[in-house]
Amino acid sequence: MVFSQPTGKNKQSPFGTSDDRRDPKTTFRLRPKDAPPPSMPTADDLIASSRVVSLPMRTAFRGITVREAMIFAGPAGWGEFAPFTEYDDAESRIWLAAGIEAAFLGAPEPLRDEVDVNATVPAVAAADVAEIIARYPGATTAKVKVAESGQTLADDVARVEAVRDLVPTVRVDANGNWSVAEAIEAIAALGDLEYVEQPCRTVDELAEVRRAVSTPIAADESIRRSTDPMRVAKAGAADVAVLKVAPLGGMRALLATAAKLPMDVVVSSALDTAVGMSAGVAAAAALPNLHRACGLGTGAMFVRDVAEPFAMVDGAVTVRDVAPTADLPLASAERTQWWHDRLRRCHALLVG
Ligand SMILES: [Mg+2]
Repeated sequence: MVFSQPTGKNKQSPFGTSDDRRDPKTTFRLRPKDAPPPSMPTADDLIASSRVVSLPMRTAFRGITVREAMIFAGPAGWGEFAPFTEYDDAESRIWLAAGIEAAFLGAPEPLRDEVDVNATVPAVAAADVAEIIARYPGATTAKVKVAESGQTLADDVARVEAVRDLVPTVRVDANGNWSVAEAIEAIAALGDLEYVEQPCRTVDELAEVRRAVSTPIAADESIRRSTDPMRVAKAGAADVAVLKVAPLGGMRALLATAAKLPMDVVVSSALDTAVGMSAGVAAAAALPNLHRACGLGTGAMFVRDVAEPFAMVDGAVTVRDVAPTADLPLASAERTQWWHDRLRRCHALLVG
């Protein structure tokens, strides 16, 4: 029994395909062993247990200062439905499949208890770096935002150098904001890096930069759907694939994607609440090959989370189930209704 993202040839069942069942790499035993396959919950089921939250953030990230999310409960725990507000329903339905997997099927068997995670440094001034790094105790890897609009390469170099003084392994994330020429110039200026994430927007540009530099290249925004990683691999566009649970349709879908990829994988969050984060940590804990710190430390970016955040201890977070606290920062009635309507539309697309 496999729960995977629906594909074109199997729109009827968000719970898997016969192809998945033939491939031993993508088949995961339910826990407990003899649990019956869960039935697809209705939209009313999901809304009945749901909460829509509005989480204030410490620093703007991705242009967002308040993160809205919907969480709901099922027999296996809590799931999150939180596609960014500008995403359309066709894309958002995949995120809903991931939330339903978490709440109704639960996590795959873990292979480790802890997952190393990176500190995340937004596009702040170099002088503010130490305060941010202090939120990630024991981090040995930091991801630094670069190529922010309105800033210069000198700002990026200063920020990266400030981080390198505090953390041994530094990776940067340009979120696709450089041209090929700008990326090559910046990579030369930034010095020793673990990798550069999404230096440019397109897969072809990533491949061009990768041919021109020796610093490893990671693909993030180029991987949004389950079919994208193989396209990135075929184009020789990246050394590392950044995979996220929700956009790929769930923990098992992420594991299936990673199993097919001829490159290192880093599991990352998409500004998830602690509920979504638990699925990311669980997916990372179940990956047979994990060699790099994951981007699952973003809980420190919220002033308040829906549950005890995944606190980093000695540079790692511990795998655990999450249930929300009683006093949630709830969204307004109007925003709650917007999320209910969105869930109903995405649910209708998901069940065909
Ligand atoms: Mg990224």
